[in-house]
Amino acid sequence: MTEIKKIKAGNVKLKSKYNFDDELSDKIHCQCSFCEKLVTLSPKTRKLHHKLSGPNNFYCSFCLSNNLNKKDSRNYLLMSYRGILGYYYFEYYKNNNKMFMSQLKDFEEAHCKIGIENPLFKYDEKSMVWFVDFNRIGRGKHKLNVSNALQTSEDILNAFELKRIVSESAHVKILSKYTNAIMSFYKTRCRPKEKFILMPTFANTNAEIRFNKFHKPAYSMEKTKNFTFVESFE
Ligand SMILES: [Zn+2]
Repeated sequence: MTEIKKIKAGNVKLKSKYNFDDELSDKIHCQCSFCEKLVTLSPKTRKLHHKLSGPNNFYCSFCLSNNLNKKDSRNYLLMSYRGILGYYYFEYYKNNNKMFMSQLKDFEEAHCKIGIENPLFKYDEKSMVWFVDFNRIGRGKHKLNVSNALQTSEDILNAFELKRIVSESAHVKILSKYTNAIMSFYKTRCRPKEKFILMPTFANTNAEIRFNKFHKPAYSMEKTKNFTFVESFE
């Protein structure tokens, strides 16, 4: 008869098969080489990204999973409507409680819903950046005309109900900022280095004129483009 030994239960220290001890911190902050998003990673995840990104580069999960670390990513236009939500945040949520945070979220969801109807528009909800695939915009088989991209951009903009909220001149001006930049990217396939992501703001548009002619915003319009829901925004 086999003797069954009683095993005493105790604390067992489990050791990972993989060694990540060479990292100094358990959180690593990295910026994506393509979409400029700041991400926080564990050493374990960082190693996966490092392997997939290659030397001297770091790509975020969104860019890696959408193959945006490849050569043809230069034909992607990156654009965002954060400047509009950031403006609503400062002007109508923080300054005078004319909007709730839930309304800002509703605007964000509405613009997302409209944009993703165009298969060439991909959206990263963490950074609120759109990736428009110009590899498939132009003339030829299986390509969409650039007018489709312009129309989608205008439809997305309409989700923010600008006609109701900002002055007409501000609405027209911000629409033309998107339109002109999309056409310029279509022709040249490049963006100004310091403005790689197309992210217009209401700077110099008198956006606030509808409510108060003499109102001067106490915040910098430049700051409005930093708006996100993910991390604390200031
Ligand atoms: Zn990225």
